[in-house]
Amino acid sequence: MSIDIRGNLKKLRAEIPESVSLLAVSKFHPDEMIMEAYDAGQRLFGESRVQEFIEKFERLPKDISWHFIGHLQTNKIKYLIGKVAMIESIDTVRLLELIDIESRKKDVVTNVLMQVHVAAEETKFGFYPEEILEYFKEKRYEELTNIHISGIMGMASNTEDETRVRADFKKIAEVFRKVKETAGDELRGFDVLSMGMSGDWRLAVEEGSTLVRIGSTIFGDRYYK
Ligand SMILES: *Cc1c(COP(=O)(O)O)cnc(C)c1O
Repeated sequence: MSIDIRGNLKKLRAEIPESVSLLAVSKFHPDEMIMEAYDAGQRLFGESRVQEFIEKFERLPKDISWHFIGHLQTNKIKYLIGKVAMIESIDTVRLLELIDIESRKKDVVTNVLMQVHVAAEETKFGFYPEEILEYFKEKRYEELTNIHISGIMGMASNTEDETRVRADFKKIAEVFRKVKETAGDELRGFDVLSMGMSGDWRLAVEEGSTLVRIGSTIFGDRYYK
C-alpha cells in the first residue's frame, strides 16, 4: 500500500490553524519518505533516537529544522548540539545543565522545551507540573548562558477517553500559562506550547497548542526495528 504523504500533509495543513506549527515526526521512517514531505514543502521534522537522527541529519538537506523529541541520555547530548533546532524533551534539571555546558563548548545557543508529565502512564518522562513551576519561581534558568527555554512540551494519556485527554492538555497549557505569569518579561521568547499528536491534535489545538507533532497521519504506521 502506498502512502500519499503529499496529500496527507496538504489535508493537515488545510485543517491546522496557520498560527500552529506542524512538526512532521519522521522517526522510524526512511529518507525517501522524508524527502517526499520535504518536496511538498515541509521543513520541520522530529526524531526520537539519537543514532537515527545523526544518520538522517548527515544525509538529508541542510535546511531541515530538526526537533529532538525522545528521551535523551546525558552521554548522548554531544551528538545533538549544533545540529538540532530544538530539544523538546527536557525531563531533568541535570539535562538542562549539561546541554548548557555542551552548547557553551560549541558556542551555540540551544532551544529547548521543558517536558511536563501529566499522562496516566508512568512510563512517560517529564517533570511534574509543580516541579516546573518551582524551577521558574526560583529563576534557576538565569544560570544558563547557552540555552534558550522556548516553552513546554507535553503528552496526553494514551486513551480513547476524550475527557481525560482534554483534561491533560488543559493541565499542560496551565503550566505554560503559569510559567509565563511567574517569570514575566524576564523570560523572553517563551512561546511554544508543543502538544498534540496524530490521534489528539485537534483537542490540543483547542486547548492552545502552538506546535503539533504528527507522525502516523503523515507517514502511516511505523514498523519498529
Ligand atoms: C512518536 C511521537 C509523536 C508522533 O506520534 P503519532 O501518533 O505518530 O502522530 C509525537 N510526539 C512524540 C513525543 C513522539 O514520540
